[in-house]
Amino acid sequence: MKTVTLLGSTGSIGLSALRVLRELKDEFKLYGLCCNSNLQVLEKQIEEFRPAAVAVSSREARASKDYALIKKRFGNVEFIESDKPALELALRKTEITISAIVGAAGLEPSLAALKGARRLALANKEALVMAGDIFMAEAARLGTEIIPIDSEHSAVFSLLGNAGEKDLERIIITASGGSLRSMPVEELSKVTPEQALAHPTWSMGKKITIDSATLMNKGLEVIEAHYLFNLPYEKIDVVIHPESIVHAMIEAADCALYAHMSVADMAIPILNAIKYPDKVNAHFGRLDFTKFMQLNFLPLDALRYPALALCYKAGKRGGTMPAALNAANEVCVEAFIDRKISFTNIVEIVERTLESCDITDTPSIDEIFEADRQAREISMKFIRGTKK
Ligand code: NAD
Ligand code: MG
Repeated sequence: MKTVTLLGSTGSIGLSALRVLRELKDEFKLYGLCCNSNLQVLEKQIEEFRPAAVAVSSREARASKDYALIKKRFGNVEFIESDKPALELALRKTEITISAIVGAAGLEPSLAALKGARRLALANKEALVMAGDIFMAEAARLGTEIIPIDSEHSAVFSLLGNAGEKDLERIIITASGGSLRSMPVEELSKVTPEQALAHPTWSMGKKITIDSATLMNKGLEVIEAHYLFNLPYEKIDVVIHPESIVHAMIEAADCALYAHMSVADMAIPILNAIKYPDKVNAHFGRLDFTKFMQLNFLPLDALRYPALALCYKAGKRGGTMPAALNAANEVCVEAFIDRKISFTNIVEIVERTLESCDITDTPSIDEIFEADRQAREISMKFIRGTKK
């Protein structure tokens, strides 16, 4: 039996991971569960999976009556009481840790998981965006494997394994184009959070769904791919593919292109990340060629999606710039959901924040956290000064 810790168990990826683990109860035993504050969902998960340890990050949640009741109900389960319960859980020894916390909050626990786990199955792309150099160096130093869960990166990972790396010319990751793909550009500033949250092909957490509509998600994924596959930005391309059936392609030197296709279900990359290198037998849905199917590929419209160029710029600049970009984006996405700024303000404010930030080259982890803090402060100032 392999032990698994799941960070971010109550989110969209967390629930998909538990769907996979439910099928593989004979092979994997859940050691730890961690979430921010959703005690209702967490309680059901503890009941079903009986983990040894549980970490709840939110202080308010830990101070609640419900928390005390859950603790009492599951007397055999350890509820980690510390300043940083997620971090402490991630340090505990386990075969595999799945990191599915959303945003910058995932960086410290994901880094800690490199120490605690033999393999990190990584969905928390923001950790790599913020601290890619430190993260990859730490994984190499500790001998911890990182296997991507992000569908495009999981696709590239398996394509490289099958087609080989030696003749690799470039990788191409696909983007659905998000919920607003067909809306006239001049109407984007009027978009409501509800419209932006209605993703056409994937069902995901709120932050990544808004990031998909701006294409910030794809930009973060370009930076993620740069670190995961050690590729220069010139060899990472993006194409719009509305059907989300082809997740990534790799191009060889002879111009042959290899594509990875599957239904849009995160259970498939999660399953591959925990089972690798074993071949997997699964039934999470097959593509059905008895029905009409179309695959479209559209060139990128830079005017519609200014976030992508911004991410390439931040990635190439390196240092603390990607961490600042990520932080400003998190703040702006939240402000958009709270109706404080318009949809188009998101990328505008991220760009203005980057222009005002101090950028440090080859930063330490503390300097990365400082850049994150500064970018949040600057973007909040811009948000307060914005008229919708
Ligand atoms: P989500 O909002 O649905 O879930 C986030 C999870 O993180 C929740 O369980 C929440 O409790 C937990 N969390 C938040 N702050 C925390 C903290 N401080 N401490 C501990 N736990 C905390 O998000 P999601 O859509 O599942 O995305 C999770 C990550 O996976 C993101 O980095 C996202 O980019 C990546 N990802 C998601 C998908 C998808 O299909 N949803 C696909 C690819 C990559
Ligand atoms: Mg993705």
